[in-house]
Amino acid sequence: MKLNVPTLAIIIGEGGSGGAIALASSSKVIMLENAIYSVISPEGCATILWRDPKKMLDAAKAMKLSAKDLLDLDIIDEIISEPIGGAHRDKDQILLNVRESLSKNLEKFEDMSSELCWLEYRCKGVMESANNHAWQRIDYDIGPAKFLHTLHACVGHFNPDIILTNGGDRQHLTYLQQLSDLHYPDFNLHRKTAKIKVRSNQRVVHSYGQVIRKENYVPLHGRLHIDLKSSFIVKEGGLLGLFELAHHSRQSTQDISRLSPGSVISAIQMRVAMEDGVLVPWKKNRPEDTKTAWELMLSDRGGLYLDSQPGVYTNVIELDFASLFPSIIATRNISPETLNCSCCQVYKQSDKIPFVPLNPDDANLYFRKKKRNQSFSLGVFPQADEAAQMVPGLALHTCGRTHGFLGRVVAPIIERRTQLKQKRQSKGDMFDQQQNALKWLLVTCFGYTGYKNARFGRIEAHEAICAWAREILLQTIAMAEEDGWQVRHAIVDCVWIDNPSITDTDVKRDLAKVFAKKVSDKIGIPLEYEAMYDFIGFLPSRMHGAGSLTKYWAHGEGELKLRGIEARQHSTCDWISSLQSRAFELLIEAKKQHLLLHDLKIQQQIISMLHASLKRLERHEIEPLTLIISRRVTKTLEQFSVFTLTYASVLRAQQLGHTINPGEKARFLVVVGSKRHPHTRVILEHELHDSSIRFRVDVQYYRRLALRAIWAILAPFGWSEEEISSGRRIVTLDQFIQPHPKMVENHQN
Ligand SMILES: [Zn+2]
Repeated sequence: MKLNVPTLAIIIGEGGSGGAIALASSSKVIMLENAIYSVISPEGCATILWRDPKKMLDAAKAMKLSAKDLLDLDIIDEIISEPIGGAHRDKDQILLNVRESLSKNLEKFEDMSSELCWLEYRCKGVMESANNHAWQRIDYDIGPAKFLHTLHACVGHFNPDIILTNGGDRQHLTYLQQLSDLHYPDFNLHRKTAKIKVRSNQRVVHSYGQVIRKENYVPLHGRLHIDLKSSFIVKEGGLLGLFELAHHSRQSTQDISRLSPGSVISAIQMRVAMEDGVLVPWKKNRPEDTKTAWELMLSDRGGLYLDSQPGVYTNVIELDFASLFPSIIATRNISPETLNCSCCQVYKQSDKIPFVPLNPDDANLYFRKKKRNQSFSLGVFPQADEAAQMVPGLALHTCGRTHGFLGRVVAPIIERRTQLKQKRQSKGDMFDQQQNALKWLLVTCFGYTGYKNARFGRIEAHEAICAWAREILLQTIAMAEEDGWQVRHAIVDCVWIDNPSITDTDVKRDLAKVFAKKVSDKIGIPLEYEAMYDFIGFLPSRMHGAGSLTKYWAHGEGELKLRGIEARQHSTCDWISSLQSRAFELLIEAKKQHLLLHDLKIQQQIISMLHASLKRLERHEIEPLTLIISRRVTKTLEQFSVFTLTYASVLRAQQLGHTINPGEKARFLVVVGSKRHPHTRVILEHELHDSSIRFRVDVQYYRRLALRAIWAILAPFGWSEEEISSGRRIVTLDQFIQPHPKMVENHQN
């Protein structure tokens, strides 16, 4: 449905079920006289309605699926008449009729630009949501003035609250205004009479090391214009997620839809500051406290990870801290104004001091009680002595008296997300969408505490959070080992544990949940059961033999989970992704048949699959479109200092007469070319549509990619890239006699 050219559908026999929906999105739908077209077959409908497939004739009548009925209902556009007795009686005649209809309609499409077809499709969508199933399609071929008039009347009639577009910010709405200036000045999409205006112009922004292209912002008055193409929030959390964020930030939904989650967090912080009656600094101006080199070294390690032993493990349980960093902010009372306060006593033994409750209401109560005790305490001094919370390993403490600002910002978001997650029944339902939008807020809110432009950040807050995260993970690992679990790996907020002595997986799962509850109570932040994996492979680092920090693949509960693996990355070409998928399928299949994954036979299967594919590559039998690599362009042509393939693509695009701007993606095929002329090293994707183009795929380049992709799967089993390339595993005599420690596999269920 994302085609941006006009499409034509001709239904010749039975157009039924889900396939019919695809046909409905065509610009024009045409039917043969005796064809039928419906979202369900009459038999299916009768079975569902009356539990009797024999009543299909009644169903067929009620469903109005004949060409004539559908034309009356405006669902199709045209009927092609059939010879007497049906199309099969005279095939030449029917072919003639179809050809006539085709050429007539194609003529109409000729002067239609691709943007207008888009608009037409989207308009249909809006009208649909405005009034149940009544919708009106407006074709551009009636001429611009009439088109605008009809669209205007339509918007007036349906009076929608929301207008969704797919690229309205970038071009469609301004184009409509231009058309209206020329042909139909009365045209109006607002709820008051006004022209469509761009509020902020497109620009390129840098965010967390990424280059993002921001489109124009074209707002509407009195109704919401939401551009699906320029809204990260709608993409991640749907419309419901968007409304959720608008509610939290008290900002206009239309404005919020164009913002990044980080900007939404800023808006929420401002709201809380306003409610506090605090003036918000225009720009942050409090300098960071000075630090010694030792302190820097201690604090700048970032999140902690356990140096994992690469290898493949089976029946491993993953436990996650939900929203770890924001929860640390809330429970450890970390905020710029609570750090190193001068009102509290610093005690060396601080583990007796309770944490702030995560629930915002409980937290308010906690601080209110403290305040009451301060005001009415007995004794010589009127003010009670309050203990500060020490940050582990750093010369920092947080206030025990004042409820921190950041905590008051994030705690309600965490609480709301927990509630939504409990209500969620399946992935992607409305609660899931809302909680997903909030997740992005919580992710960015950690980044913001150390961010130089953040209004409420302070680098010490960032360090304190990291120090707590390390402490919490270490404590969790210690508790796990105390309870007899083996910790396979741990990264920042996840731990993977196993207890090989428990063979029943259900028992193991229950015990893990009990353990998670125990940790949650101790730490004050919920540790949740995430999944049990049939198998999980931790990759070694490519630089040294030790474990890689964040690269792993796992399979459990019917799903494959990949982190840092090619198949997961958008830049990877289809051929490489499918190589990896097939390798994973072999592993999953072997596990299903209760085979030992460490058996060399299964690994050999993957190797032969790879080598068969490499042979096809060398014989140039791989479809070039599946070798297209995509890279986000971050610089203009002049800014490149290293002549990468991305540079080659940008250069080639320019020589072909168009530019790839920073923030856009370059999609290219790597071919054999000359080193001195970088633009000959690649072929751009759109060039492949030209069948006359000649090129030779760079076999060596793709071979390297393929070897590396399979290495990611076999390295945890101990294979090196050379061994994969030659196809032979070198097993030393020592390994032969005694199985390698990481080859020990607990064989269960
Ligand atoms: Zn204090």
